[in-house]
Amino acid sequence: MIVMDFQDIIGQEVLIQSLRNAIEGDMVANAYIFNGPAGSGKKTVADIFARAINCKDPKYKPCNLCSSCKKTIAKVNPDIIYIRPTGSSIKIEQIRKLISDISVKSYENIYRVIIVENADSLTSESQDAFLKTLEEPEGNNIFILLTENYNTLLPTIISRCQVYNFNRLNKEDMKAVLTRLGFTDPVEVEIAIQNSNGIIGRAIEMLKNKELESQSRLYEEFLATILRGSRVEILNCSDNLLNSKDDGEKLLGFLLGFFRDILVLKTMDEDYAEHIISKAIDSHIMDSYVNSFKEEDIFKIIDSIKHIITSMDFNVNYKNSIDSMLLQILEVFNDKSSRSTI
Ligand SMILES: [Zn+2]
Repeated sequence: MIVMDFQDIIGQEVLIQSLRNAIEGDMVANAYIFNGPAGSGKKTVADIFARAINCKDPKYKPCNLCSSCKKTIAKVNPDIIYIRPTGSSIKIEQIRKLISDISVKSYENIYRVIIVENADSLTSESQDAFLKTLEEPEGNNIFILLTENYNTLLPTIISRCQVYNFNRLNKEDMKAVLTRLGFTDPVEVEIAIQNSNGIIGRAIEMLKNKELESQSRLYEEFLATILRGSRVEILNCSDNLLNSKDDGEKLLGFLLGFFRDILVLKTMDEDYAEHIISKAIDSHIMDSYVNSFKEEDIFKIIDSIKHIITSMDFNVNYKNSIDSMLLQILEVFNDKSSRSTI
């Protein structure tokens, strides 16, 4: 097992430095919100932070060698508590139990750390109960709430927390992390980066599960559907494919890479063909797109995909945005094919 340390976190330098300063200056806050997309490293950083604030080493925290660090690594530290949703939400009973559990002094560590995963899923009842513990911090309890969109929390909760936003990583940082983790196949790494929109956990998951192959088949079918030119079919296909925001981001990442490839194939000579990343897609489908779309149309499509990607974190109606973008692609395609039949 790889024990992650602060220096292993790439692409979140400002945030990491701020957390380290808090530990070194003994200025740890009572409550934190770590906010960012699923897979952006919030839980990993929360784990390292929890280990570091209780580390007994006077200089380098976490040392990963002292009794506290060892217990935390072995997941047997009684002073690190994880709260996770049961079913789709974190229920009031869980928060009541937590409040009673933390009303006694921490066992053996300086701090007790409560990490609330998917804190966006606290019910409003749970949030009310939770707020009381934040308002009257007992002992040395430190709360870390992990959220994808912290605006779903009560303003009174947010105002008691220090908010840290996790960045999406750029391509170079993604590559650096994946290489460090031992993923070496350049084509697979490139495809995973292209399909994960700067979310490192997603790229790792893809490479681990080797889901790329089956994912490519689904997308290939999707591209073929667009070529058949039926609005109803497209919307059905999108319904099947987009069960979550995560699915939406994966599809957008794929389409962005795909249309960039089409642009490359259309505008560059054959030497550039080796640079395309949608290698898993059938060449007949690629050719159909190259022949059906004009360069200016492809630029427009790429722009609208990018636009949705950048607004994704704040967009509650992401599916509507994606659907209208797909219909826009279809319109461009139909327009072209009707013109060519005249
Ligand atoms: Zn230690």
